Amino acid sequence: MTKGILAVFTGNGKGKTTSALGIAFRALGHGHKVCVIQFIKGNWTSGEQLFAKNISPLIEFHIMGKGFTWKSENLAEDTALAQKGWQLAVETIEKNEHHLVILDELTYLIRYNMVSEDEVLRVLSRRPAGMHVVVTGRHASEKLIDLADLVTEMVEIKHPFANGTAAQKGFEF
Ligand code: ATP
Ligand code: MG
Repeated sequence: MTKGILAVFTGNGKGKTTSALGIAFRALGHGHKVCVIQFIKGNWTSGEQLFAKNISPLIEFHIMGKGFTWKSENLAEDTALAQKGWQLAVETIEKNEHHLVILDELTYLIRYNMVSEDEVLRVLSRRPAGMHVVVTGRHASEKLIDLADLVTEMVEIKHPFANGTAAQKGFEF
């Protein structure tokens, strides 16, 4: 029986985005089509973004956001870009051409009211029956957690950042 799983990776510890990408890696091995939409752009071009471009026509990679909202100089522009990203997510889900859709850092869009939580929940709950969706990001909302089939909270026990170690290429990005 094929059942699309709605998974949420949340919490303050490292490993949310990389777990989602691990599932992408696994899905690609089975020839499944994957779409990754990243709603927050980091400071560096990520290895996954560069790799996805070359690795396989089965994976699509979209970066539809700016930096972190709380550092933003133009909230209106960020919100517009976030909403455009969300529209792409809606179209991707409704088109039903992918086995796995990763909505990376989507939780922030809900948290900062850049998209309507009700709409997100509605679209996710009405996704095609066999489609897996993974949502990542800190502070997943209670309603999103209720809706999900699988929720994992990454708990920070130790992170080199606390000792002043800068983000490492090929490990953090
Ligand atoms: P990753 O992409 O490495 O799986 P993540 O998705 O769990 O991390 P985010 O909240 O999206 O974490 O943070 C993005 C960046 O911040 C990554 O470079 C990540 O390594 C780093 N990071 C994650 N957790 C922590 C932490 N607890 N302290 C400091 N930096 C962190
Ligand atoms: Mg992340």
